[in-house]
Amino acid sequence: MALAPYQKALGEPDELREILVKIRSPCNTVTGHGLVAVCLQLSSLRTWKRKKRRKMSNALKQVFNKDRTFRPKRKFEPGTQRFELHKRAQASLNAGLDLKLAVQLPSGEEQNDWVAVHVVDFFNRINLIYGTISDYCTEQSCPIMSGGPKYEYRWQDEHKYRKPTALSAPQYMNLLMDWIEVQINNEDIFPTNVGTPFPKNFLQVVKKILSRLFRVFVHVYIHHFDRITQMGSEAHVNTCYKHFYYFVKEFNLIDTKELEPLKEMTSRMCH
Ligand SMILES: [Zn+2]
Repeated sequence: MALAPYQKALGEPDELREILVKIRSPCNTVTGHGLVAVCLQLSSLRTWKRKKRRKMSNALKQVFNKDRTFRPKRKFEPGTQRFELHKRAQASLNAGLDLKLAVQLPSGEEQNDWVAVHVVDFFNRINLIYGTISDYCTEQSCPIMSGGPKYEYRWQDEHKYRKPTALSAPQYMNLLMDWIEVQINNEDIFPTNVGTPFPKNFLQVVKKILSRLFRVFVHVYIHHFDRITQMGSEAHVNTCYKHFYYFVKEFNLIDTKELEPLKEMTSRMCH
């Protein structure tokens, strides 16, 4: 396919070329899905650079560090059982399987392992999606963490915000991503060693993580979808949402009440 229009639109041919080389398929063409990846990668790369510059000049003034939106991906160690499961989950997606089927527990696998790899994967993907719009989600644009006029989310944790507290969307997102990162890196909750059992409250923690991740979708869809469309990444975001939705439904991991803000869209998108 011709690269020129994308280079023109995105403006940074060298970076684009570098990324395109990485994602070229064996027959030397770039697929539609690949293009979405280009847009997302390039956009996050630019945002990252912009933030880095801003941070350097503004380090002391910053109340909190937005660079942390771009966390290093939590990876599965090659050779481990969980890495194999992760690969398997990815492979079924790449094969273009029905997402509803792709989320089902493969026979002979432990449900907790299957759930754990998906939670980590969704965290990485949703974090990246928010990262691509985070420059547009500011104290000014989103002084309240909401999902339209009907839904407002308050943050609560065991540290600074012991009571549910109204925060701006960027503050809320930062706390949310930090909190999830701590959970999935906690060996007591997400053990990486084969044979180490999951804790008894594993599914409880997972439900909380997924409910909070769902709120990222709510905010992005309701308040920032124009930006997603401008970047041409709506198909990518929709696929991620569908995958997430089928997954939480399959294992009953989010209360119906929590899913309410996107109910109408979900009924059109997921069958
Ligand atoms: Zn926002």
